[in-house]
Amino acid sequence: MQSPSNHIFEHTPETLARWCESVSMPKYRAKQILEWVYEKGITDPAAMTSLSKADRDKLASDMTFFSGEIVQRQSATDGTEKLLIQWNDYSDAKPAAGGGVSLPLASDASRQTECVMIPSEDRFTACISSQVGCPVGCKFCASGLGGLDASLSAGRIVEQVYRLGRLPGVRRISNVVFMGMGEPLSNLSNVVPAVRTIASLWALGISARKITISTVGLPKAIEKLADMLDLPVTLALSLHAPNDEIRRTLIPWAEFTTINDLLAACQRWFEKTGREITLEYTLLRGVNDAPKHARQLADLAKTLRANINLIRYNEVEGLPFKRPVDDDVREFQRILRDAHVNTHIRASRGRDIAAACGQLRHESAPEEPTAAAAGA
Ligand code: SF4
Repeated sequence: MQSPSNHIFEHTPETLARWCESVSMPKYRAKQILEWVYEKGITDPAAMTSLSKADRDKLASDMTFFSGEIVQRQSATDGTEKLLIQWNDYSDAKPAAGGGVSLPLASDASRQTECVMIPSEDRFTACISSQVGCPVGCKFCASGLGGLDASLSAGRIVEQVYRLGRLPGVRRISNVVFMGMGEPLSNLSNVVPAVRTIASLWALGISARKITISTVGLPKAIEKLADMLDLPVTLALSLHAPNDEIRRTLIPWAEFTTINDLLAACQRWFEKTGREITLEYTLLRGVNDAPKHARQLADLAKTLRANINLIRYNEVEGLPFKRPVDDDVREFQRILRDAHVNTHIRASRGRDIAAACGQLRHESAPEEPTAAAAGA
């Protein structure tokens, strides 16, 4: 049997009880430790006063609480906070059950991911990463510029939400979106247990309905997610194009999958989970923001009865794509609404910090574009 992980956020009550036994602590300590961490927000074993001195010392020497270091923190005038986390070497954390990809990590940037806390009137949203870099390499995205460096373990995914929830002024994280670096569906063996922990009452207790997993679209993985995860999470499909021709110019993986394949997988998701899909559509000036594109998109959305989130592109230095003009965005939305498609324009948050996904890491250590991204 695999030895239990030594990263606290990797654990469930059951696995932590096994870990306690493995270091000669009573099993009931597991419940106490998790209460200290999640209920009381304590991650210093010395402050866990219900534990014996010997067990506190054991915990301090044998358990990792934070497996990453915040190497940069940016605060926007609208309250948005962005963290750049540098993860310890992967050899210090055992992969979650089901295994995780562990790749050689060559540089500091190859161990860094971003996560963002976005406050609004009634919620605090954590936007988190599932991988270091991204294997997809969308032409407009900073995260995919250097390709994939590694997949994050379940514990490192949970740790991001925990850390964002401890930022000053954050009452409680209410929503979680997997819209940071990485393609969550290519790291299902870690994303699924992470979502379970995030939603569990013994841990972060965030309603599964408030957790959104965003994917560029892998039909088989969408179906696998529906099979693996018995929680009512929201699935968001990053469509970004109204037809296959444009999609292939933006998203390298679109070479292997048509929009029709994706919509069919989303339809099966809906039939299996009863949960509607959200379509994410990043508007790029002069590329996919014309009225005819809105009409094509409306036809696609109606086949699924999907909601659409329109996102104004945040420009990335070195990439040729431009933010759309406000009038064009409003016209795009009007056409969709006239076609009876529920459409929202996502508010741009944190524009005075490196707002685009992967941009902070990119700025801290600019990467050479991969072959996939070079043609952007
Ligand atoms: S947009 Fe998403 S899927 Fe595409 S490269 Fe960026 S992180 Fe990866």
